[in-house]
This record gives sequence, structure tokens and C-alpha cells, in this order.
Amino acid sequence: MNKIYNFSSGPSMLPIEVMIQAKKEFYNWNNIGSSVLEISHRSKEFLKLIKNSKKNLRNLLNIPKNYEILFCHGGARGQFSSIPMNLTKKKDIVDYIYSGHWSYQAAKESKKYCNTNIINVSYVKNKKKFILPMKKWKINNQSKYIHYCPNETIEGISIDEEPNFKNKNIIGDFSSTLLSRKINIKKYSLIYASAQKNIGTSGITIIIIKKKLIKSKNKYIPSILNYKIMLENNSIYNTPTNFSWYLSNLVFIWLKKIGGLKEIEKRNIEKSKLLYKKIDNSDFYINNITKKNRSCMNVIFQLKNSKLNNLFLKESNLNNLYALNNHKLFGGMRASIYNAMPIDGVKSLVKFMSYFEKKYKHEN
Ligand code: PMP
Repeated sequence: MNKIYNFSSGPSMLPIEVMIQAKKEFYNWNNIGSSVLEISHRSKEFLKLIKNSKKNLRNLLNIPKNYEILFCHGGARGQFSSIPMNLTKKKDIVDYIYSGHWSYQAAKESKKYCNTNIINVSYVKNKKKFILPMKKWKINNQSKYIHYCPNETIEGISIDEEPNFKNKNIIGDFSSTLLSRKINIKKYSLIYASAQKNIGTSGITIIIIKKKLIKSKNKYIPSILNYKIMLENNSIYNTPTNFSWYLSNLVFIWLKKIGGLKEIEKRNIEKSKLLYKKIDNSDFYINNITKKNRSCMNVIFQLKNSKLNNLFLKESNLNNLYALNNHKLFGGMRASIYNAMPIDGVKSLVKFMSYFEKKYKHEN
């Protein structure tokens, strides 16, 4: 098989070891004579998987005892509604930090349920894009929580600074960065991420939430979006996405085996440095984000001569480098280099970029 390097932003590459294992046990999981796709979510085998997956995730992220882990439906967008529904009443004020497409989508949804402050934290100076440091964010004294997105998947912007706001609940949309690096869970009241980037494949959404926040009595929240009901039902209030859950657990085990988040963070930094170095050392490719806020997960770049974009995509495909186009709203290129992308994939991309540059430099 001609294996490609797939730079898709999600669903995205899975660790090859995980896929081999999933294939091996597809028909006969844990010697039960059946596939994990065929068994009841209430069977003792699946209940064991639930327990183990929680334990594995807790260990990987060092999640303290006063936090619960929920496995939910509806992706990250589902959480855009669940969060304000569960944590606010109609007149409550909440702060939504706007740093790109996904944080804005979250804010727009929140507006349906409560008084939503949208706080723009990005600015452009000398053609470079910057994010204001957290101490300059204009937070509302009365807000019930601050929501932000530490990795804007489309713009390739990351906010790595750890939040330090006194007496505030901090909520993070970690969809495209959870498990890519070490984080201090204690800094947050709620973290959520859909699975299709670093965790596994689409279908399941992870919520890590302070126990004391799980108390909503609002009877109008659809039960499936209600954190209290999900917790009381061990996250299987209704039928979960068995396969996505199972695959996530295989990824947790894989991560532990390769050295945990410390090791994967090291690998991710190395990969992204290689790619940004290529971009910065050329005037053929451009990335205008200030170094501090460049994403390790989603490396965006434009070709100085945008007329060459389609050619770049076509020729990169012929060189087994796939899905390098950015979201249709943004344009240009994006290399999503999540945990499962090997360093060799990035090296191949860098090599191709040098080749393409040499070939078309005269057309710049
Ligand atoms: N937030 C971020 C940061 C994302 O990258 C995405 C998906 N790319 C979403 C939210 C939406 O996720 P979902 O499709 O799982 O609802």
C-alpha cells in the first residue's frame, strides 16, 4: 500500500500501532468472541472499558479527584450549548474570549442562553497577528465564567499561557490540543474536546469538569446534554459511540506506552519547529502569526503568490502529502500535525516545500 501522510484537521491520522491493534481485535475483542461494535454498552466488558478509559485519561492528564470525566455526544459544538445551559441562568453574564473562528462559534451559541460578552483579544500590527496577554483581557467582574479556545484550529493560533484569574471559572475548548502537551487541570473548571484530532475518531466528546459545578436543576435542559444526568448514568444515559470510546482508550494506552504527555509534547514541538523554520527561512511561504502564538498542532501558511495554491495542493497530493488545504473560510494551506503525525511526515512536507519553491520561484 502506498501510505500517505494525511494532514487533515480532523478526523485525522491515528497512531499506526492503534490501528493495527484495532484491526487485530476487530472480530474478537478481548477474546469474548465478538466485536466491541456488537456488544451492549451495559455489558460487563464494556463497563470495564468505561472504567479503564477514565482511569487512563485521569493518569495521563493528572486529573485531580475533585473533577469528573464525562463522555458525551454532540461533538464540541454540542458543548457550545451544553455549557451555558448547565452553568447559567438567563440573566447571567459570561465572558467569551474571541481569538478565531471556533471561539466565536462558541460565543454565538452562548448568546441564545445568557448575557454573552464577546472579548476580542487578537490584533494585527505591522502585518503580524498577535494575541493580547491574559492580564489585558477585559473580563467582566460579574461574569460566571470565562470561555476561551487555547488552540484555534483554523487560524493556527495557540494561547499557551495558563489562566490565572482570581475566583473565576475558566472553561477551555481543547478540541484540537487536548493530550498534545501537559496542562494544569487545576487552572480550569471545565475542559472539553471532541475526539477526532488527538484522542481518537469522531463520535465521542470528553468533558473534564469540577464536581461542584455538576448541579443544574434546570428542567428544560435536554437530558442528554445535562451533566448531572450524564454523571448519574455513568455517561451511558443513552447508547454511546462504542467504537469511538474504545479507540480513544487505545490511544490513551499508546500515549502512556510512548512516555506520556511529556514525550508527546517534545515530539510535537520538534515537528512544528521544523515546519515553521522552513516557512520563516523562505520568502515564498508566509505565516504572519507572532511566534508566541503559533500553534504546534495546526501550522498554517500561505504562498506569497496565491495563484500557485491549487498547483501546490495538486503536486503535494502526487507526493503522498494529503489534505493540506485550510478550511474553506480561511484559504491557504494548513498542515495539521497532531500526535499521530510522525516526524517523517513533516520532513517529507518540508522537502516537498523546498522542491516546489525551487521549481516555481521565478513565478513569485
Ligand atoms: N472547537 C474547535 C477548536 C475545533 O477545532 C472544532 C472542530 N474542528 C470544533 C470546536 C467543532 O467540533 P465538532 O465538529 O466536534 O463539533
